[in-house]
Amino acid sequence: MTDNAPVSRTPVSLLGAGAMGTALARAWLAAGHPVTVWNRTPARARALAADGATVAAGAADAVAANRLVIACLLDDASVGEALDGVGLTGRDLVNLTTGTPAQGRERAAWATARGARYLDAGIMAVPPMIGVADSGAYVLYSGSAALFEEHRDTLAVPAGTRYVGTDPGFAALHDVALLSAMNGMFAGVAHAFALIRREDVAPGAFAPLLVSWLTAMAPAAHQAADQLESGDYRKGVVSNLAMQVAGNATLLRTAEEQGVSAELLRPYLDLMARRLADGHGDEDGTGVIELLDLRRARPAA
Ligand code: NDP
Repeated sequence: MTDNAPVSRTPVSLLGAGAMGTALARAWLAAGHPVTVWNRTPARARALAADGATVAAGAADAVAANRLVIACLLDDASVGEALDGVGLTGRDLVNLTTGTPAQGRERAAWATARGARYLDAGIMAVPPMIGVADSGAYVLYSGSAALFEEHRDTLAVPAGTRYVGTDPGFAALHDVALLSAMNGMFAGVAHAFALIRREDVAPGAFAPLLVSWLTAMAPAAHQAADQLESGDYRKGVVSNLAMQVAGNATLLRTAEEQGVSAELLRPYLDLMARRLADGHGDEDGTGVIELLDLRRARPAA
């Protein structure tokens, strides 16, 4: 091979040309990977032909075209529907469809029983971040380590990669845990804006304060992890639960004064108050995790 010879890139079959599938396809095509795409509604797949993709007439044709098959469909049920009756022997199926840990494990067993290697995944990005260097986009992967190692360069084209273990449920577990934390943050942001919006405070002036405060507080997750790992919720406490609960009364009273519903705030504050009532005032707030654990052994009545 001469220096000028084209480098052959792993061909990819992609099931799903929705917003995310289209972004993925464009990233692989731009990097020189041949892409065969199938979409339930053919027009969306055809739009990718202009970028150089080969459009498959059916999901089975797309799967037959290449060993590496990527699914990026709406939900787990749509993956089952699209691949119903499609032979997977010898395929490497990477499922970028958002699902639950149990769905990831079941889909792995389902694919393995059909002769495929399987990798589950969770995309930590929105479509405009895909294929953009330094956008911070990454994809969590779990399942077949051999599949991941073999295709890691191809998988790294649209976004960064984080392999989180052989348990095929782990990608979804990490994905959903991160998304759940994000929702808690957005709930707090919504409440904060609700407090200021009827006052002479410009949201645009308030937003930088909000961002820098949340950014400064985020590393508290490391402290929580340390306390969870040591089993000691009193380790390194700066603001103990008793003090925090006393302060929470001010948060609730301010919401009332401002005519703002505390419905986003109250569930978390109620948990803190319960943990305090259980006698854990000298702990950090991390101890509320105990109250969320529905599998925890309950004391006998
Ligand atoms: P879209 O709604 O844009 O596309 C959904 C895709 O699923 C389309 O290709 C649609 O086909 C297909 N589909 C739906 N139902 C079926 C079915 N029963 N059988 C076959 N195909 C079906 O969603 P996205 O592309 O944005 O999302 C795809 C996956 O990526 C989802 O799991 C999503 O959670 C995940 N994701 C998306 C992000 C985002 O910001 N968009 C961020 C992170 C993850 P058709 O065109 O025929 O309707």
